[in-house]
Amino acid sequence: MTTTIDNLSVEELMALEDNTSCGSYNKQGAPLVRGQGARLWDAAGNEFIDCVSGIGCANVGHSHPRVVAAISEQVKNLTVCSELYHHQARARLQGKLCELSVAQRVFLCNSGAEANEGAIKFSRLVTGRQKIVCAMRGFHGRTMGALSATWNKKYKEPFEPLIPHFVHVPYDKLDKLEEVVDDQTAAVLLEVIQGEGGVRPGSGDYLRGAQELCRKHGAFFAVDEVQSGMGRTGKLFAYQHHGLEPDLVCLAKALAAGIPMGAVLIGERVGAIGASMHGSTFGGNPIASVAALAVLEAMIEEDLPGRAEALGARLRGALEGLDHPSIREVRGLGLMLGVELKFKVAPVIAGLRERGVLAIGAGPRVLRLLPPLVISEEELDQVVGAIKDTLDAVQEQQGDQE
Ligand SMILES: *Cc1c(COP(=O)(O)O)cnc(C)c1O
Repeated sequence: MTTTIDNLSVEELMALEDNTSCGSYNKQGAPLVRGQGARLWDAAGNEFIDCVSGIGCANVGHSHPRVVAAISEQVKNLTVCSELYHHQARARLQGKLCELSVAQRVFLCNSGAEANEGAIKFSRLVTGRQKIVCAMRGFHGRTMGALSATWNKKYKEPFEPLIPHFVHVPYDKLDKLEEVVDDQTAAVLLEVIQGEGGVRPGSGDYLRGAQELCRKHGAFFAVDEVQSGMGRTGKLFAYQHHGLEPDLVCLAKALAAGIPMGAVLIGERVGAIGASMHGSTFGGNPIASVAALAVLEAMIEEDLPGRAEALGARLRGALEGLDHPSIREVRGLGLMLGVELKFKVAPVIAGLRERGVLAIGAGPRVLRLLPPLVISEEELDQVVGAIKDTLDAVQEQQGDQE
């Protein structure tokens, strides 16, 4: 049955999408229709260099041939297989995630928030304790448990009361953690590098100190690698930069190249949780599982973490080399970079878009760059050129307003 909806113009569809969405989203530009590597095209025929990657999902690039082939093949055979039954791709995925990390077990789910929910529940279940220690400026998702771990008041206050016994202390300050982690603590949950909170890396000393503190008090050390994982920072997982052995590692975003999938990597100290104590209908879905396997293969065969490290250093050097008066600091790890500006980031994102580059913010003054790890050096140079031109233009505008 066709309705008038099937015959709407691009503009009418944009209006329809906005008017029928829950209202929580503010979309930019024409609908996206195609992606290839680090390039995106919209319905108006514009081409972009993508430094958003669907918020850090397309680490292997858009339409990676391995992912396309894996999904296409799987879709012909089986698209539904709940965890009531075995599935061979799920088995391989769990096995490989364990081989490649500190994990001995894996819980598969569908999003970053859900991975954090899992880590929180496993921590409470296994320790029998309630307190979860998190960091100021931390972001862990929007569901009630993950939101309780998140810092930003704007996201939280309208939904209170949230889950009790979540404590927030300043990030990257070990003495502040020492003040609150005790024998009632179930877990310390931290990002290895804070993403939404402004692209702020934690120091190795801080993170190792946090892990040690957890060991001392019998708490679990949980890291949220939903954004920093899957090669983004120059290692498959960012915790590997610092020689950490977290008890719980939360993954999502790039895990299955943007097909919805989350995971909790579960270490030896946590062990197995009891039968029926947690679950997810869609967890370990066959399509998501083969996509994630293809992502892991691409990571290894194309050495995408190594590429992220090399290209990240290049991009960072080029941005610092701009020596632009509007840049306060360039920080990050690998291809997870933040550029802290002296003015608001919104006009910079709009200006970049006009110059064919998609980027996002991380807080009001930080420009966040999360390009696919397959981006080319030439594309990165174009991004740097566009950033320079945009900052020049925005700075001039701001000067006019003074
Ligand atoms: C995006 C993000 C989440 C939430 O992931 P969703 O899939 O949106 O639920 C959690 N933690 C971090 C670090 C993130 O960047």
